[in-house]
Amino acid sequence: TAASVLAVELFEAVDRMLTQAESALGDLDAIAGDGDHGIGMARGARAAAQAARRRAESGSGIGAVTLAAGEAWAEEAGGTSGALWGAAICAVSSTLLRSADLSSATAVQAVDAALAAMQSLGKAEPGDKTMVDSFVPFAVTLRQEMAAGKTLEHAWQAAAAAATSAAAATAELRPNLGRARPLAERSLGHPDPGAVSLAMIASTIGENIK
Ligand code: ADP
Ligand code: MG
Ligand code: MG
Repeated sequence: TAASVLAVELFEAVDRMLTQAESALGDLDAIAGDGDHGIGMARGARAAAQAARRRAESGSGIGAVTLAAGEAWAEEAGGTSGALWGAAICAVSSTLLRSADLSSATAVQAVDAALAAMQSLGKAEPGDKTMVDSFVPFAVTLRQEMAAGKTLEHAWQAAAAAATSAAAATAELRPNLGRARPLAERSLGHPDPGAVSLAMIASTIGENIK
């Protein structure tokens, strides 16, 4: 279907972007973490894109395609971020299995479901210096822009811009969770790698969404 083709294209665009960003994200994670964020995200996105393409080629709709991608990401990425991204993508797939189109209302619901899944698994709140710090402003801005009557493309791009600013602003925060916590002081002045990669993924989707 047209929607499942778009989903495959989005996963492939994210895969290409994260492969490019792999070493920069690894360097950022090495400041206060273990340096594997780039490798993990690139591996997860590659597995997700491959699984999505296989499932779409066998004729599945966008919900099943996205579920296959989320399961592959969770299985292959490794690390805390791999489990969280896998859960978030699987939550998106549950929304898409119920309403198999990429309408604006569906997109807002899917994003809210992804954020809820990430927070229920990881227990992070805004201010803990995690990917939740860029995800919350992304979700809030998307909802506001859609309510203001913007197209999905414009609303998504505004939300991605909000996520990008919020990711940069995590440089001021001390990590309360995850591997960076013991080296919290070292991370001051540097943004959280997971918040940065989430904003990059949001921007890439915004450039490719139609
Ligand atoms: P690991 O920390 O297991 O090596 P990664 O390096 O891939 O995994 O991912 C680190 C990122 O995961 C952090 O920058 C942060 O954004 C995110 N993170 C860590 N713990 C949590 C959590 N409990 N909830 C949400 N995000 C988290
Ligand atoms: Mg790491
Ligand atoms: Mg690790």
